[in-house]
Amino acid sequence: MSKSSRLLNDIWPQERDVFVRPDRLKYVRRAAIPKTCVFCEAASTTQKKSKLVVYRSDAAMVVLNKYPYNNGHLLVLPTRHIGELEELSVDEFAEISLLVKESVRILKKVYTCKGLNVGLNLGAAAGAGIPDHMHYHVVPRWFGDTNFFPLIAETKLVVESLSTTYKKLSNEFKKLKK
Ligand SMILES: [Zn+2]
Repeated sequence: MSKSSRLLNDIWPQERDVFVRPDRLKYVRRAAIPKTCVFCEAASTTQKKSKLVVYRSDAAMVVLNKYPYNNGHLLVLPTRHIGELEELSVDEFAEISLLVKESVRILKKVYTCKGLNVGLNLGAAAGAGIPDHMHYHVVPRWFGDTNFFPLIAETKLVVESLSTTYKKLSNEFKKLKK
């Protein structure tokens, strides 16, 4: 190996080092995604708790992520089945934006998190797990939550059951006016 290619290997991690293949993820997820849209089911269900819906109005809703990155990981989305941000009506966009704001407020209150990630993955190429029904992620963060614990304890920091998370957060969302 030449000196320059060794240097390049030091700068650019090789696949064997990283084990992240976002280009393959779409195949893995496709196998796991049910035929019906889970978000549309959540939009119409009468069983809100079993579908993890903590808030729902005609236009928008807030649901728990079934596979949370962290305790309290919320998804904010339109009730309508649309994949593109620009397809949202002005009213839908306004309500979703307000719900993102309220989600941040509630997560800070309930989980006293030190920060949050708020974001959109639009399209499968951008990493969206369910690209046909767009959704914001609102993820509470604490210092060291992703790096420190998995390394020393081989444990994810998601220690709370979804039913506990549901109870805590739905109580807060109940206070919002529809
Ligand atoms: Zn849908």
